[in-house]
Amino acid sequence: MARARNLPALVVHGGAGNAGPGAERPERRRGMMAAIRLGANILRAKGSALEAVVATVTALEDHPLFNAGYGSLLNSEGNVEMDASVMFAEPFSDSTRRGKRSDRTHSHDADYTVSAGAVAVVSRVRNPIMLARAVMENSPHILMAGPGAENFARKAGIRLVRPEEMVTERARERWRARKQQAGMLESQAAARAAIGHGTVGAVAVDLHGAIAAATSTGGVPGKLFGRVGDSALIGAGTFAHAFGAASATGQGEAIILTALCREAVLSLADGAPQAVARAAIAEMIDATGAEAGIILIDRRGRIGYAHNAASMQVARYDPAGGVQHLWLAPIATARRP
Ligand code: ASP
Repeated sequence: MARARNLPALVVHGGAGNAGPGAERPERRRGMMAAIRLGANILRAKGSALEAVVATVTALEDHPLFNAGYGSLLNSEGNVEMDASVMFAEPFSDSTRRGKRSDRTHSHDADYTVSAGAVAVVSRVRNPIMLARAVMENSPHILMAGPGAENFARKAGIRLVRPEEMVTERARERWRARKQQAGMLESQAAARAAIGHGTVGAVAVDLHGAIAAATSTGGVPGKLFGRVGDSALIGAGTFAHAFGAASATGQGEAIILTALCREAVLSLADGAPQAVARAAIAEMIDATGAEAGIILIDRRGRIGYAHNAASMQVARYDPAGGVQHLWLAPIATARRP
């Protein structure tokens, strides 16, 4: 049953991590504003939350200053390996009742159905979020990885590119500079300490009450060949449900350990998104001492975000406030005794 008076809203993040070169900030802001406008226009035209988050994340994947799609960070071997995921919570309609449901869709709430798709360690698609969506909509699975995922892409009509086409000169330079520093990431502790910036994600609610989340990344700097992060994992880096949706960024290992997005979305049952976002990050700090950020939206279109890294870039849209961009200050990082 579609709910009356749903207010559309959209939140986007461009990664939590180090602040990055100051000279890049104006262009990162511009890229994020252009991306959120695409999503906001879809919502204004009564389009779906799923279309809005996928369009927004696709635009950021195409932007070379974000660590997703073209411009992704390189792994320890100097190659691009990308992760992405998408999740959609739809109010029941007659079409969902008539057989759209399958063993991949589940009802978490009496009148919502959720579905999800994800890809891990892909290097031959320009827009991993589109492939994640294709896995959700056109395969019997939720998560596909590596060459199998790329083979599926071809069958789904998604053009394959040469892996080198995804590597920017900027990413190559950063990889070389890192290589010269002492070693790449060889321990889990070192992996947890690594954080860059520029992963992208979006969460949205549409006029019909549907809720969606999408996340895409090139991973953490210096990650080992074959490493999969939270952005490919439903419940960790991405989650959507009858209560709302979340997308995370930061040290993926910590986000996985704390199932950050699922925990936060379920907490929307008893809290407003801003308070829930802060509590989720505080709990993640307590449990892991790591750095991460989260964006959240609830079914009423209320918005929350929080992080404890040096910097996090977000943009938001709702009919009352229009489109706004923010560089968010971190919450206090002290671990509870
Ligand atoms: N969470 C991403 C990962 O661990 C990286 C990031 O958000 O910066 O792959």
